[in-house]
Amino acid sequence: MSIPEVNLVFDEPVQRKKVPKHLADYSPQERREVAQGLGLPAFRATQVATHYFSHLADDPQTWSDIPAELRQTIADQLTPKLIELVRSVTCDDGMTRKDLWKLHDGTLVESVLMRYTDRVTVCISSQAGCGMGCPFCATGQAGLTRNLSAGEITEQIVAAARACANGELPGGPVRLSNIVFMGMGEPLANYNAVVRTLHNIIDPAPDGLGISARSVTVSTVGLVNGIEKLTEEGLAVTLAVSLHTPDDELRDSLVPINSRWKIKEVLAAADAYEKRTGRRYSIEYALIRDINDQSWRSDLLGRLLKNRNAHVNLIPLNPTPGSKWTASRREDEAEFVRILEGYGVPVTVRDTRGREIDGACGQLAAAEKVRTD
Ligand code: SAH
Ligand code: SF4
Repeated sequence: MSIPEVNLVFDEPVQRKKVPKHLADYSPQERREVAQGLGLPAFRATQVATHYFSHLADDPQTWSDIPAELRQTIADQLTPKLIELVRSVTCDDGMTRKDLWKLHDGTLVESVLMRYTDRVTVCISSQAGCGMGCPFCATGQAGLTRNLSAGEITEQIVAAARACANGELPGGPVRLSNIVFMGMGEPLANYNAVVRTLHNIIDPAPDGLGISARSVTVSTVGLVNGIEKLTEEGLAVTLAVSLHTPDDELRDSLVPINSRWKIKEVLAAADAYEKRTGRRYSIEYALIRDINDQSWRSDLLGRLLKNRNAHVNLIPLNPTPGSKWTASRREDEAEFVRILEGYGVPVTVRDTRGREIDGACGQLAAAEKVRTD
């Protein structure tokens, strides 16, 4: 197995051009102060937040409680357009839609919207690229471009909520119900912006979208200090830990940050999170043929997890261009599941929504880069 050399970038704000400030970057109190700093009464911030989060109204001319002559100026200051749609691709009869966004400095990120019978989920990016260098991941191959601001992350969610409300997905208007941080980037390596975004999602109107914390999943490669900080926030969002193998020897190469925090420490941090929030956590496990899908690994994973409040989410590997790795054989996947179930560990195999549009992990942005380079 050849593992590329990586530079691990951890919690370093990498910023080329300053991202314009947006009300989604601030707490509700700070928003009022910003409004006052602009010479406006504080309540204008609350009005704009209501238009943004509750009405999903991006055209300031519809903000009828704000004087017409002020609307555009206020919008320019508090809700500048941070993301611009480059293109969308759909599959699954339109029920899966992947959007490619251009940020103000030309950086590309993507989000994926998926409608199911009982919910609509958006998968969003928290960074442009990723510095964690996992060799099976398209985003990891490109390295980290920069952290996204809370505004840039929140804009992906609000755009998804708007698309749902406008009936852009087949089946008519619907409410966005779930948010997963499983697009590009390592959310806990962009901690402050991600936590601000979590508040924007969870806080009730007029301060946020009012979506329940349990409908939000933060997926991490296992940054223990980030998990510990998140535990202290007491936000009760669902935590997903990308484990991918139960042994440190292989994990050191599949997930290079394992050289810093070993499996034992990662699981202990996830256990503490579960204890504090009462939320069962997920273990993400990309099944890679003949690499991490042997029955002895399933057995070891079962023994590791049998007394923990965790659920295993097996993800058939989505091969990245040029990689020699591929998804497990059906029978190996079935055996892996059977062994885990034998330990009483809850396990599901993730559906492969969006495969034909490279729905996973930075592949659309990578393709666009090739097209435009
Ligand atoms: N950085 C975070 C979140 C983004 S990746 C993390 O690693 O958890 C979201 C999930 O997609 C992770 O579980 C990741 O391991 C998985 N993933 C990445 N590349 C993949 C691929 N090629 N096939 C299947 N899953 C992949
Ligand atoms: Fe980053 Fe997650 Fe991809 Fe690893 S799997 S490189 S942490 S996005």
